[in-house]
Amino acid sequence: MDHLDGNVLAGPATDLFAFELSMAQGQCGSCDDIAALGQCMVYGPPMGYVARCRNCDSVLAVIIERNGQRSVNMRGLRWIRVPDQYSPSTSAAPWRK
Ligand SMILES: [Zn+2]
Repeated sequence: MDHLDGNVLAGPATDLFAFELSMAQGQCGSCDDIAALGQCMVYGPPMGYVARCRNCDSVLAVIIERNGQRSVNMRGLRWIRVPDQYSPSTSAAPWRK
């Protein structure tokens, strides 16, 4: 199977990450709880933001800002679901069919 280079992700990735995160749903990788990310427990700043599962207290995501750059680790989330109505893309985007 032929592959494309990572630049092809620019459209759908920009689309995916240009949403209100608190409105997205996510599944905890530890306990399988599914909830809007706005329902998780968040600690910080000043060290950054640590989002923990509302059900089992596992770390879902960590956001750190240092030296003018942001790092995001979402290892604790099995997946994130973004409702279409919160996505800025139009149906004309080639990656949306
Ligand atoms: Zn959990």
